[in-house]
Amino acid sequence: MEHVDVLIVGAGLSGIGAACHLRRRCPEKSFAILEARESIGGTWDLFRYPGIRSDSDMFTLGYTFKPWLGAKAIADGPSILDYVRDTASEHGVLEQVRLGRRVVGAAWSSEDARWTVTIERTATGEIERSGAGEAELSANGAAEHSVAVAGETAEQMTCSFLYCCTGYYRYDEGYSPALPGRERFAGPIVHPQHWPEELDYAGKRVVVIGSGATAVTLVPAMIEGGAEHVTMLQRSPSYILAIPARDAIADWLRERLPAHVAYALTRYKNVLLATLIYQLSRRAPTFMNRMLRKLASRQLPAGYDVDTHLNPSYDPWDQRLCLVPDGDLFRVLGSGRAAIETGTIDTFTEDGIRLSCGQVLDADIVVSATGLNLLVLGGMSLTVDGEQVDLSQTVAYKGMMFCGVPNLALTLGYTNASWTLKADLVAEYVCRVLAHMDAHGLPVCVPRAPAPGLPTEPIIDLKSGYVLRSIDVMPKQGATEPWRLRQNYFHDLRLLRRGPIDDCVEFMAAGVSPAATLPATNATAGVLVEDNRTEGLSARSPVAVAEPANGLDRSVVGDERVELAAQVADV
Ligand SMILES: Cc1cc2nc3c(=O)[nH]c(=O)nc-3n(C[C@H](O)[C@H](O)[C@H](O)COP(=O)(O)OP(=O)(O)OC[C@H]3O[C@@H](n4cnc5c(N)ncnc54)[C@H](O)[C@@H]3O)c2cc1C
Repeated sequence: MEHVDVLIVGAGLSGIGAACHLRRRCPEKSFAILEARESIGGTWDLFRYPGIRSDSDMFTLGYTFKPWLGAKAIADGPSILDYVRDTASEHGVLEQVRLGRRVVGAAWSSEDARWTVTIERTATGEIERSGAGEAELSANGAAEHSVAVAGETAEQMTCSFLYCCTGYYRYDEGYSPALPGRERFAGPIVHPQHWPEELDYAGKRVVVIGSGATAVTLVPAMIEGGAEHVTMLQRSPSYILAIPARDAIADWLRERLPAHVAYALTRYKNVLLATLIYQLSRRAPTFMNRMLRKLASRQLPAGYDVDTHLNPSYDPWDQRLCLVPDGDLFRVLGSGRAAIETGTIDTFTEDGIRLSCGQVLDADIVVSATGLNLLVLGGMSLTVDGEQVDLSQTVAYKGMMFCGVPNLALTLGYTNASWTLKADLVAEYVCRVLAHMDAHGLPVCVPRAPAPGLPTEPIIDLKSGYVLRSIDVMPKQGATEPWRLRQNYFHDLRLLRRGPIDDCVEFMAAGVSPAATLPATNATAGVLVEDNRTEGLSARSPVAVAEPANGLDRSVVGDERVELAAQVADV
């Protein structure tokens, strides 16, 4: 059976980034990337709806090691996909990608200190014998499948470390709530996750159901694409903020400085700005609510009903803030070719939607921009020494590993900032962990269970519908470090890039069951750590870490200056 040191699951932005970090930092490690789809890029290959674009800037959604050179800070989907492909190609990781392979399960054996993963060929939907035809990558990242041969046993591989870059949602279906009377509607009802390439909406009246990032993107894009009129039908409003599509400061820096330096500076500027907006939103929600509404109303025609359509019932950043480049949504609302309606659906009719208030919205096409279905670990099942792992019962360590689950990491990006900021830090951290295990001759690492009674909450802290719908199956985070997920890049820079890697983690020899690890006694003032200076099977030594009670809340701006200087100096 084929064995690799590190098996990456998923070839999206995170999986490709993880592979590049491995190449750069752990060049001696063998690795492979298994990807269920037939091309790389994940989200940026899957979504094909009009106007698909990032809703955070590319200076922070780009990798730390690969400057974003595109003209626009808010980039379209195809440009992001090109960026991911170029990065993969430049770092020589394309050869390691195996397309059309979904990992359906992974079983850890403490005896062997390795995972055995079970792989399903998505091209045939069959589980098949190892060694059946390989999927090869063509120049554009698409798979050329040879015919798969079904067999009795599953295709399997083993790895020492399982690195899950599986994203956070189901690929096979988006979220489609029951829409009353939808069968009566004569026209097409499409979901943005499954956009029909042939859909002709020129000259048509469109209703987009939803108020999130996808809906606010679709409305101006479909007007641009020739729709006669587009109505955004929302049950409740979201916060919407206009930002420049181009970053003038980035452009200024790019003209004067080497690309890496300009990129690093812009990246830090944008992280600071996003952190500031987020912190202001959390600390002064009433002020931010007023400010966001004021900014929106300035871009809309006089008398626009901001109080109804742009006045959410929740605080800013309880759900993601929707960004609209150059205020494109406000512009089309002002032109009269687009409108927002706030209300609930009574029923679909043959040629539109009737609202509970009696208003009728005429439509030739309805787009159900109603969101995603969350999926943890890409639907993989896990066992540890034959015992099924119930992810909803595990507590995440630093938001990336799970208590009692050895040699496994998951990339879960920020909900309040660009995903890749966290993905890069997780990748660096994994490389540190791998180096630590090698240096100490201890091939197993497992976060200990937190002390019993530690208050827990879901790992994703947004109150958006798609999060609330899946809250029961999500892993937990704890109330204190290192089980607390801060959603704060500056905090994580220190925690993940420079912080200890053996706090509440057991590094062990092969043959020891993680079940034998004792719960860590956690406190922000001191934690049990491993004394990793011992050779072989390490003895657990209670060593109080000199971490001040409020240590992880200290101002990090000073650290960030050092980081910034270090990064610029690296260039
Ligand atoms: C429309 C849209 C716009 C977004 N815009 C932004 C934005 O502007 N900024 C931002 O920060 N975030 C944004 N996000 C979040 C976005 O998903 C992340 O930015 C990022 O693309 C995630 O990358 P990823 O590689 O972790 O996950 P994904 O892009 O989801 O890729 C995961 C890959 O893993 C594969 N996979 C999953 N399970 C398995 C399995 N069991 N076996 C094998 N392969 C598997 C999938 O097929 C997929 O290719 C957006 C999301 C959506 C849906």
